[in-house]
Parts: sequence; structure tokens; C-alpha cells
Amino acid sequence: MLTGIHFLLTYKCAFECDHCFVFGSPFAEGTFTLAQVRDVLEQARQIGTVKTIYFEGGEAFLFYPLMLESIRQARALGFKSGIVTNAYFATTEEDAALWLQPLAELGIADLSISDDAFHFDEQDNAAKRARRAAQKLGLPVGSICIEQPTVAANVARKKGEPVVGGGVMFRGRAVEKLIADLPRVAWDEFTECPHEELEKPGRVHVDAYGNVHLCQGLCLGNAWQTPLASLVKKYRADAHPIVAPLLRGGPAELVRAFDLPHEDAYVDACHLCYRARQALLDRFPQYLAPRQVYGME
Ligand code: SF4
Repeated sequence: MLTGIHFLLTYKCAFECDHCFVFGSPFAEGTFTLAQVRDVLEQARQIGTVKTIYFEGGEAFLFYPLMLESIRQARALGFKSGIVTNAYFATTEEDAALWLQPLAELGIADLSISDDAFHFDEQDNAAKRARRAAQKLGLPVGSICIEQPTVAANVARKKGEPVVGGGVMFRGRAVEKLIADLPRVAWDEFTECPHEELEKPGRVHVDAYGNVHLCQGLCLGNAWQTPLASLVKKYRADAHPIVAPLLRGGPAELVRAFDLPHEDAYVDACHLCYRARQALLDRFPQYLAPRQVYGME
């Protein structure tokens, strides 16, 4: 049952991290207008099962007035709200409080702050300053920490599991930037999608182009062409040209179903899935979009 809508409020970001799924950067295009936010919120209300609305990106705080007004409207419709941020704005703890105080007044349910070496390299970094400020304001705050890929020696591995740990999922820029020299697993071992509920999604991401993502760049349709509530109601995983093979036999089956060229081995299931989807972009533009999350403008 769909209970969460996550706005990719913008693809713009203050940073350009190597592990970013969606190729966020200071130069990325694709930011919601307030009218588009209103439209999606109204559709979310019509779905009837949605409880929580998240605002993320890119970096949602780059469009601060839009983010605040969007949260206010989501709250007015009775949704719980959450935000994901890298807290780039937290120059000091006192300054961070200036940005966070209005969120405390709006009553958000979660503030998730990215705090890892991809985003920051100092010990007392912006994420930690924002976290302390949020705690003082009584905001519910958590951290997201993705580590550099590591290779754990002598650890038993189940079939289809990557050899690499650290929490990076190899989609988007992570594939372009982080895979060199990492150990790989035979392509036909990746027989399931390990991370997403593709059959009955519990949450979807919506971007400013109207794309409704089941996983970054894998879409169930476009909300500017068909209203979100209708897309969700009509979604059938077994009729989706990309999801159906993924459910039958993971990224390996996606490769087989379309007879795609492939390498002998990949770092993880997402690496194979991302490369297979990239090869299918021109064939299924309504389901594999936007091109910028595949590193193509
Ligand atoms: S296997 Fe594909 S659909 Fe599943 S989480 Fe990885 S990239 Fe997304």
C-alpha cells in the first residue's frame, strides 16, 4: 500500500557527491514550482492511503521558501512531513537554528541529515552542527551515513550478494565514479532486486518533470500526463515492461528479456540493473526517465 510520497523538490544540490543516485549537482536542472507541489499534494490526498510526505533532492534547503510553503501545505492537508538534507547551510550551530526554527513551528516528523565522508571531511561538520541545533529545538532528527565502498575479507557471501560493503548502491553517479577496481560477481547471480518494493510500492518519488519513480530513474509513469492518483490506481507490476522482468528474475532477467549486451560481472544488482536500463532508455522513455539521472542531459 502506498503510504509515502517523496518530492525530489529539486535536482540541484550544493554538492556533487560521487555516490549520488540522481546526479545532483549545483548545475542540475529540475525544480518544482509551487503550483506543481500543490497538484501533487492534492493527488496524494485523493489516493487516500498516503500518510507521509518527504521533501528531498538534490538539496531541498536550496529552495527554502518553496520548501517551507510545501511543508505548510502538506501539514494543512493532514500529512506528516519529513526532510532529507545535507545541512550545507549550518555554518554555525546558532545559524543552523535560524533555518530549523520554522520547521519546529511547522511540526515535522523527521529531519534526516546526511553525515558522511562523501559530504564532509571535517570532524565537527555542518551535519553535526545542524543535528545539535535540531535537538535543541526538539526536532526529531536522524543521520544518514553512507561509507566509502569497502571489501570485507573472509566474510561468507550468499549468492547474488555483492562482495563490497559500505552502503553505496551502485546507481547513478556511483556507477560512473566508484566502481573502478571493486570486486565483481557474475552477472547471472543477480536474480532479484534487493532494495525496492516494486510489486506494491510503499513509497514513490516524484520529480519536477512529473516522473513518478519506483527506484531512481525507473518510473511507473508521468504525473503531468496522467494524474498521480490514477497512475497509482492503475499500476500493475506485471504489465510494466521493466518491472515485470525485474520481479521474475532480477536484473539478470532484465538482461535476458531484452537480450542486452553485458559484461561478465558487476559490483552489485543495482550496477547491472542501472546499466541494463541505460541500454533501454531510448526504447522506454516514459518508464526510464529523466535522462539526467542516467548521466545524460
Ligand atoms: S535492482 Fe534495480 S530496481 Fe532494484 S534497487 Fe537496484 S537499481 Fe533499483
